[in-house]
Amino acid sequence: MLRTTNAEYLRGSRRKLWHRRLAGGSTGGTLVPHCAYGRRPRCGLCCVVMVLAMACVPTIVTGEGTTQTGRHFRVICDFDDEKIAAQALETAEAVWPVATRLFAVADRTPDEPGDIYLFRTVAAYEKVEAELTGGKFRRNLAFSHWDTRASYIVLQPDCSYRGLQKSGIPTMTRRLIAHEAAHLFRCTMIPNHRSHPDWLQDGAASWIEEQVLTADGRSSGAERDPDTSTMIVQALGLLEQNDLPSVNRILRDDIEDVQWSKRYAVR
Ligand SMILES: [Zn+2]
Repeated sequence: MLRTTNAEYLRGSRRKLWHRRLAGGSTGGTLVPHCAYGRRPRCGLCCVVMVLAMACVPTIVTGEGTTQTGRHFRVICDFDDEKIAAQALETAEAVWPVATRLFAVADRTPDEPGDIYLFRTVAAYEKVEAELTGGKFRRNLAFSHWDTRASYIVLQPDCSYRGLQKSGIPTMTRRLIAHEAAHLFRCTMIPNHRSHPDWLQDGAASWIEEQVLTADGRSSGAERDPDTSTMIVQALGLLEQNDLPSVNRILRDDIEDVQWSKRYAVR
């Protein structure tokens, strides 16, 4: 989980990326297909809200919408598309066995499935995010919230309804779902989850996300995938500029001076 703090690993990764590039392969390292909004977050991928929440949960889906419920998670789309909802649920449910093994906890069915809200537009996400966290996670486009025990994710990259019908849920969105579902797993199964440091929260979620995407064939490994390899390159850049925080600082969550978009790479 702390792979990006290991100088040897990073240097080795860069060599491999460059070798692949020279060989004409796709490195993805600098070719991340940013979302239409140009601010595709990583765990924007979340960050979990640890504040005491508001007393009232906002009304999120009115009118049309689709809900799919599984053993551990429930996906609620603010748009009408059974296929997308089913695919989102498939990715979320795949998180559970991986997370159970990682945290070495006994499997059990939660009393209530964790809710994953999927928004078709940024505007719809921002409205709910503003009500829950006052803009703290507006630019993340995805976050999980302890007190509502739910995740809120924008479907991205932005694409037409026809494109969605043809290609199904984008891999970028599957990554976000896997990541946030991993946070919801901790929220549900680990009583002291609120005391987990950021590096553990996001390190575990990113690792689980990668395992799920690799297992279903949507990622060919952290060093090849455009999303994860970009984070490796970001960490390498910090290392080369001598700006990569020490392990000590990372373990203390003392990385506020690192540019926001690169903090997830550091963790
Ligand atoms: Zn996260």
